[in-house]
Amino acid sequence: MDKRHLLSDQDDIPAQQCQGVSSAGPVDPNQPEAGGATAPPVDMMDTVPGYEGTGAGGNDLPYQGPPQTPGPRSPGPPASNWQIPSINEVMAQEAFIEYAASKCCYSSNPAKEMVFTDLQAHNTYRYRLETFTESRCTEWASEPYTGQIVDGYMGVAPGPWDIAVSIPALFQDEKKEVRVPHTSSVKGCHSCMTLGRNPCEKCVTSGMMQCWVCKGSGRRMSDDRCRHCNGIGRVRCTTCSGAGSKTCNTCQGRGQLLCFIKLVVKWKNNMFENVVDKHSGLSMDRISAVTGEMMFSDMHPVVYPVVGFPDNAINQLAERSVREHQARFFSSCRVLQQRQTIELIPITRVHYSWKDKTHIYFVYGAEHKVYTDDYPAKCCCCSLL
Ligand SMILES: [Zn+2]
Ligand SMILES: [Zn+2]
Ligand SMILES: [Zn+2]
Repeated sequence: MDKRHLLSDQDDIPAQQCQGVSSAGPVDPNQPEAGGATAPPVDMMDTVPGYEGTGAGGNDLPYQGPPQTPGPRSPGPPASNWQIPSINEVMAQEAFIEYAASKCCYSSNPAKEMVFTDLQAHNTYRYRLETFTESRCTEWASEPYTGQIVDGYMGVAPGPWDIAVSIPALFQDEKKEVRVPHTSSVKGCHSCMTLGRNPCEKCVTSGMMQCWVCKGSGRRMSDDRCRHCNGIGRVRCTTCSGAGSKTCNTCQGRGQLLCFIKLVVKWKNNMFENVVDKHSGLSMDRISAVTGEMMFSDMHPVVYPVVGFPDNAINQLAERSVREHQARFFSSCRVLQQRQTIELIPITRVHYSWKDKTHIYFVYGAEHKVYTDDYPAKCCCCSLL
């Protein structure tokens, strides 16, 4: 038995082989054919029960499967007082010295000699909700027929949501294409009228083209005979090597196509993220860019919004975003997993004095990033002080 017949119906489709189907009329065989094949028109296709509306490049299909309801509620985040400064003076000073050293024009003296006057906690929180969804759509596709198994009449095509497709890593975007079982049939290639070859448009099937040396005159400027074409004025066509026709790209010369319904499965991680603005004096852009300390993580097929968190802004964010994600994704997609997290983003506002003047800087994020806009000794000459 031909080993190609042993291929599973649900084998992934090699990307370069599989072509979408155009809903337009007959395809011009002479148009440039990117990547090889052109697509047969949809009205050539058989009617497959359950796939009647399938065309070229389908829209996402509404989710049809078991209802997606929340499981048991998980315990909420612990109630704690997170307003204590999350760094001590030693850490605050180390971060500041490192910051001064990273700036070529900053003297390290203020960072080394400063006297702490106050350390204030302005800690905040980042709430994140991720909804990992799967959506599906179907479209007609074709590939050159080379003896693959033809299963169109061997059974009933399963519904698009009944086809088992293994899920890749959670919370990562991914796309997969599979052939829908019992939808394939063999059709004559529309691009070449089943001939396997198309006329060469460069030489209009003659196999010859104008000589580019003498521009078809057969003579050179000196009135000598053109050596390139031996005075004939025409040379062999370079596009078709003189054959007058070219192998059809659509069917790769086979004259026949295997047409089938392709199921396109897309996984997407939909993320909502927000940092509570506590008006610490540090811009929200800076705060959003740093890492926090994970305080709470809750992962389930369907999550409940966090309740009872000490900062009510987080409860409100959770309530709003969980409701939004439910409205947006639960009817149109299959929701595979949800995850909500709360991170503490430490922000410490440091007040210090140096040479009888007071200044401030911020240490923020798990990475102890420093920000200040009034460093007291900024130019090179200051290091001589
Ligand atoms: Zn010539
Ligand atoms: Zn030609
Ligand atoms: Zn063809």
